Amino acid sequence: VTPQIVAAMFRNVAAAIDARKDWLSELDGVIGDGDHGITMALGWTAIGRALDQVNSDDDIEAICKRMAKAFLDSVGASSGPLYATALLRAGESARGRAGLDAAALVAFIEAAAAGIRERGKAEPGGKTMVDAWVPAAEAAARALREGGSVVACLKAAARGAEEGMNGTAKIAARKGRSSKLGERSLGHMDPGAASTFVMLSAMAKALERELSETADG
Ligand code: ADP
Ligand code: MG
Repeated sequence: VTPQIVAAMFRNVAAAIDARKDWLSELDGVIGDGDHGITMALGWTAIGRALDQVNSDDDIEAICKRMAKAFLDSVGASSGPLYATALLRAGESARGRAGLDAAALVAFIEAAAAGIRERGKAEPGGKTMVDAWVPAAEAAARALREGGSVVACLKAAARGAEEGMNGTAKIAARKGRSSKLGERSLGHMDPGAASTFVMLSAMAKALERELSETADG
């Protein structure tokens, strides 16, 4: 997975977030302040502009750094520093690499998950995006142990995030804005867990497309 492919994966995230922004804001409207789709779309539009600035000298870490800065500068909500930290940490995990193999890709996802967990001081079970990131990273690591390819590992991460996202409906919120609702948040999915699923599934789809194009060409 070259820096160019990493950039293509994140371009697809920007498109997917834009397509799902109304859904994300609706979810946030139920247990939060209703801005998650708007803030994510703003952040990912800024990331799209940052990706336009990428040049051929940029490695994966440099690309992630550009994206993290763009996201942090444009998102005032709590998801701003959380996702910016994820991008920064993921990039650091790839330091010095010309590309990602399956093990490095899993380390990339694991670093993002750990970054969010530390930045948010949130544990699994609090009804936050951590409840999507942790099962995503675990599923990716499991796929790697089973000998999975980069695509298999990233698809596993997306499925893990989806299961985690669905699971947040069964959790009473303990962290973030929705924590004041506690039990009243039961039955509703966490918007940050939902945006995590949108991101990882868009990354997986783009990766599969990019690699099959490479194989065809
Ligand atoms: P805000 O709550 O400031 O309006 P957003 O609506 O953009 O921010 O994002 C809300 C999401 O951020 C939540 O659904 C949750 O997943 C995530 N979140 C909030 N606080 C934390 C935290 N401390 N740790 C991890 N994730 C958090
Ligand atoms: Mg919000």
